[in-house]
Order: sequence, then C-alpha cells, then structure tokens
Amino acid sequence: MDLNRFKKRGYVKRPTYIEPLKNLTKLMDKNISLYVKRDDMLESGGNKTRKLDYLIADAIEKGCDTLITCGAVQSNHCRITLAWANLEKLDCHLLIEERVKGSYSENASGNNFLFHLMGAKSIQMHPGKSDMMALMEKKAEELKKQGKKPYIVPGGGSNGIGALGYSSCALEIMEQLSKESLDIDTIVVPSGSSGTHAGMAVALKALNSKIKLVGINVSRPTDVQKDVVFKVAQEHIEVLGLDKDILKKDDLICLDNYVGEGYSLKTDGMKDAVELFAREESILLDPVYTGKVADGFLDLVKNDYFKDGSNVLFLHTGGSIALFEYLKYFKD
Ligand SMILES: *Cc1c(COP(=O)(O)O)cnc(C)c1O
Repeated sequence: MDLNRFKKRGYVKRPTYIEPLKNLTKLMDKNISLYVKRDDMLESGGNKTRKLDYLIADAIEKGCDTLITCGAVQSNHCRITLAWANLEKLDCHLLIEERVKGSYSENASGNNFLFHLMGAKSIQMHPGKSDMMALMEKKAEELKKQGKKPYIVPGGGSNGIGALGYSSCALEIMEQLSKESLDIDTIVVPSGSSGTHAGMAVALKALNSKIKLVGINVSRPTDVQKDVVFKVAQEHIEVLGLDKDILKKDDLICLDNYVGEGYSLKTDGMKDAVELFAREESILLDPVYTGKVADGFLDLVKNDYFKDGSNVLFLHTGGSIALFEYLKYFKD
C-alpha cells in the first residue's frame, strides 16, 4: 500500500506517541497490557488533522479559496477545519447541526467559543436531522455567486480521501510497532462519521495485518453504523485502487453498548472513564467521543473480551476542549 502518490499538506510532522497506560494496566488487574496512541496531540488537537491533511491538499489542488464544513454544536471537526483554514489563509464557513434539541447556545464555551475566537467567516445554525450536505451545497452556490471558490469538507472529514488520514495512521502504527518491538493484538477506535474506523480497517486488511480492530460507536446502533463505515471504506478502497472485496461488511466490528441515550448524552460509564483517565494517567478525554470509547475499552478489558496476555491499544482521537462545555456531566 503506497500512499506517497497522494498529495497532503504535511500537517502530521512526526508520528504521535504510543505509550503504555501503566497505572490503568495495574488497576484493571488482568493479564492485559493497555497502551494509548496520542492522536489528541496532533497539531490543532485531534484526529481531524490527519484527514484534513489530505482533504485540504485536494481543495488547494482544485484552486479553492474557501472551506465549508459542518458538525454538531461542539464539533471538534469544525474547530480543527477552521484552525487549518486560518493557517492556509482560506475562508472557512461552518454549518452547525443542533443534534440535541436546545443544546446550542451562542455563548457556550469549548469548541463553540473557539469558532468565534478563531474567526469563522460565518456560522449557521440548523435543526437536528437537517440534510447537512444539501445545505452545504446551497452555501457553496451562494459563495460562488460572490466569486469565491468553495470546497465542501464532508462532516467529520469522512470520505474516501479523508480516510487516507487513517490508512496512513495504520502504516505509522505498523512502523512504530516494528521499531519499538511491540506486539499489539487489538486496536480500539471510535466509530462516528467513520473516516477513522474505515481508514484503519482498509489499511489493516491491505497490509494483511493480524491486528483486530474494534470500533466503539458514539451515536448509532450497530447495523446502521456498519453501513456508515462500510460506505466510507468502499470509497476509500476506490481511492486507493484496491480490490473491492478486500473488506467485507461482516469484517467490521461496531459495538453500540456504550452510546447510552444518544450522541453527546451523558452515560455513567463515560463519566467514570473520563475520571479514571484523568486521575490515573493525567490524560484528558471528552464526553462525546473518547470518554465513551474509553468506557468501552475498559469494560472490554474487565469482561475478558481480549485474550489473556494480549496488548491492546486505545486510539485517543482528541476532543478535550469540549470537556469544558460539559462541566454539568461531572458535578453529581
Ligand atoms: C470526530 C471525532 C471522533 C470520531 O471520528 P470519526 O472519524 O468521525 O468516526 C472521535 N473522537 C473525536 C475527539 C472526534 O472529534
């Protein structure tokens, strides 16, 4: 799998660290060693940087001067897209979907505060379940009439090109493991808009890796989520020019037992996991994504999901800025 032929901007300057979670490993008291990959430490803070590395290269190659993207009220993706747009001197317009009714507040902190601080060209609010792609296309038409050349970055940066960020991450991990003589049996990843999950799934197949990949859903039931991941994976396979049958839908693992009532809504397991990572490892997670994924990760260890003696890696995708908008989740 050669990714060098794909243009990127070079936002990922060095591999993110893989570190042992020593205190949590001890605390869990199983014959399982826990590791974390610190993609939260990527510049601009999270997994969207890897996808945007390729997506913004595509935008610039196409001569675009403006980015349009969408996300939830506390979207890390919108904030990170805006951050890179500023550095690249591109305009950035954000369309926000209020997935939880009544959750938008113009004065909210976290990512919402940063949309304003970092100077998004426009911020449009839309109710939950709006057709965000259609709305972004409408916005693009308006901007074209003003003489702009807009580029639409899909929600979460998840399409066949964005997924390059995570097939390249899988390659990065393989190189690190061989350099550090570390064997990893399972990688646990978030499964949301799914560029992360799909990119890793395709790459591990293409590399013939024995590593098992476990996706933890952050919003959807398993069946629906598998369709979402599989669609992005197929687009990605096409971009890579690989054999269509390299990945089957049934190869995908999407666990929905840690979502709770829905996207961004509090679960007790999330709260415990965020607290444990903060207290044991001084690693900050977030309530919407990594807190729920970490809940799953630790619960699977507890329930002997991983085989005895195995090494498991948690992919930390970022999000801690959103933590500060969800103080209420931690106060009781
Ligand atoms: C977007 C996001 C995810 C989910 O990644 P997808 O590729 O959209 O599935 C996970 N964690 C954080 C912090 C995110 O911002």
